[in-house]
Amino acid sequence: MTGLVLVNANVLTMDPDLSARPRASALVITGGRITALDEVPAGSEHVVDLGGATVLPGFHDAHNHMIGFGMSLAEVELSSPPVGSLDELYAAVAHRAGTTAPGEWVIGAGYDQNKLGGHPHRDALDRAAPGRRVWLRHTSGHMCVVNTPVLAALGIDGTAAEVPGGRVAVDSGGRPTGLLEERAQLLVGSLVYPYPLAELTGAIARAAEVYLAEGVTSCTEAGIGGGWVAHSPAELAAYAAAREQGRLGVRVELMAAREVLHPLGAHPDDNLVAGLDLGITSGFGDDWLRLGAVKIFADGSLVGRTAALHDPYDGSDGTGYLQADAAELTGAIIAAHRSGWQVATHAIGDLAIDLALDAYEQALAEYPRRDPRHRIEHFAVVRPRQVARAAALGVIAVPQGRFATELGDGMLAAVGPDRHAWLYRQRSLLDAGMVLPGSSDRPVVAGAPLLGIADMVNRRTVSGAPFNPDEAISAEAALRAWTWGSAYASRAEHVKGSIAPGKLADLVVLSEDPTAVSPDRIAGLEVLATIVDGRFAYDRAGLG
Ligand SMILES: [Zn+2]
Repeated sequence: MTGLVLVNANVLTMDPDLSARPRASALVITGGRITALDEVPAGSEHVVDLGGATVLPGFHDAHNHMIGFGMSLAEVELSSPPVGSLDELYAAVAHRAGTTAPGEWVIGAGYDQNKLGGHPHRDALDRAAPGRRVWLRHTSGHMCVVNTPVLAALGIDGTAAEVPGGRVAVDSGGRPTGLLEERAQLLVGSLVYPYPLAELTGAIARAAEVYLAEGVTSCTEAGIGGGWVAHSPAELAAYAAAREQGRLGVRVELMAAREVLHPLGAHPDDNLVAGLDLGITSGFGDDWLRLGAVKIFADGSLVGRTAALHDPYDGSDGTGYLQADAAELTGAIIAAHRSGWQVATHAIGDLAIDLALDAYEQALAEYPRRDPRHRIEHFAVVRPRQVARAAALGVIAVPQGRFATELGDGMLAAVGPDRHAWLYRQRSLLDAGMVLPGSSDRPVVAGAPLLGIADMVNRRTVSGAPFNPDEAISAEAALRAWTWGSAYASRAEHVKGSIAPGKLADLVVLSEDPTAVSPDRIAGLEVLATIVDGRFAYDRAGLG
């Protein structure tokens, strides 16, 4: 079988087994798997001299939105920078409207009211894009702003509608401003969903090209098929099509949105109370495309101040809210656990985190299961006692390093100084014995793993303020998170996440060793090549 041999390499294996070697200088790949370290067989054909470059297991983004990111590449870019004010935002919308036919949509993404001084307003959007339908998504994905033609199509241009688990914002006169929070976004969804699968497959392919250039070889899509994160009820088919067409690029694990689980009518002894048709559940699929956890949204966004806190946001009496009735959320978590699913609960505020921990504890007590590896996505505002509880329950917390830089100022302001030390913990999770994965939540923030890794080490906001710096970790620990930690969170550490004989040959080649450069240089290191399944999938340096 054709093989590939990498020599003169600085291999960081990330192997957590203390008896294994942490470093190597050569590795042998056969049939898509790593077959040997340091022992190069005589007469090897395809030998690549890496000239001392660093080799790591390919990066695995444990929480991203691949279709959402791929689609955002075609939308109006509203991040700050480059968009620095509401006026600049309206100018960007006007510019796109100039090339958009009347009645068509102008779609933008990535705005943050903390950086613009406020949310965009429907009236100003009407002036910027006369006759067009405008839909601008907040960077968190948890809210959006639409203009009058969209509100009119929804029948809420004059008075707001009540939406459970969401909010249609109104001004002092009761007139909707265009801002739709959380589940109120489903209203817009009713006008645009479902997207055709071909469009979604194209978005996957666009995203995959970016991922490979950044060293990503695996990612976990955090919710498909239902709820406001979904693009089509048949979303899985778009991934299958991308794979069939050779455009998937990276290995993908798909979380199913809780909305798509339903009673199965199986025998009562089977405990299958909530599942997908045929009894398909977490783990179904193969090394390229696999079903992961069920995604359950307990609350919303911290910078958007919708996440559910025990105590009010700084300078207000608002405490955010849950995305559904507490008993309904708890019931959904327990039913999914009982039916054999890995559960990934989105919980940002300390109140939502308590709900998730309580539900996991109750689920495990009533329906004991070995090593279910339930997850809490984001795990953002975390009281000290909640770290100990999560560790005791075997919960995997999935925080995002890059949030510190891009969203950190808004988060510090949202919780106030007394709670700064609770924000996006990392070190205390490791100290408690928890496994830490690496993730971006792309397109919420920039998703390049080296940016996320640098931020896990540096912990500064874009304005230069320290972001809970006691929770900083070493470059070594951040690399382990983005490789082995993410594989563990996907129950896939037996096939990937470290460089060892028998593992999938998914690798990233970097210009320098992130553990050997000063922390401020990590983000600027170059990805020279990305190898997936033993083949060069990205080869900037012409190595392959
Ligand atoms: Zn997400």
